[in-house]
Amino acid sequence: MSRPAARPPDPAARRQCGSCDLCCRLPAVDWPEYPELCRKADVPCPHLERGVGCRIHADRPMHCAAFQCLWLMGFGPDELRPDRIGGYFDAVDSGLLILITDKTKPDPRTRPEVEAFIDDWCNRRDARLLVYRGGREVRSKR
Ligand code: SF4
Ligand code: SF4
Repeated sequence: MSRPAARPPDPAARRQCGSCDLCCRLPAVDWPEYPELCRKADVPCPHLERGVGCRIHADRPMHCAAFQCLWLMGFGPDELRPDRIGGYFDAVDSGLLILITDKTKPDPRTRPEVEAFIDDWCNRRDARLLVYRGGREVRSKR
């Protein structure tokens, strides 16, 4: 009797934000329910302690608790870890891939593994890429 094939490990089950804090400091936030958290792009959240994490983790807004970047969800290879490549991916629907980049680091798209991920995602889903840097949309070939 043959053995069932081992299931590949699920990346989402083992990935953790760890020292990454990009989504707490790169995007602009405009949540009327949480005026103290509203801020411009590239301004860290006032509750973020660099190197430590969210000071109000147990009481953070649902917006924060519900958010996962594509890497944390398990998409793409481990090497696309956001604080390694200097940006993170989000997808609001199947037709839009969003890359929010850290302007203090080189553009993630200069990395072949990032370009490969973008090409694969956009080709398979017929998606368009939006890239943000410093809160502004920057040109993308897609
Ligand atoms: S960008 Fe992704 S990995 Fe980084 S803190 Fe946010 S959810 Fe976690
Ligand atoms: S409240 Fe906490 S989880 Fe939410 S953006 Fe601020 S530091 Fe991040």
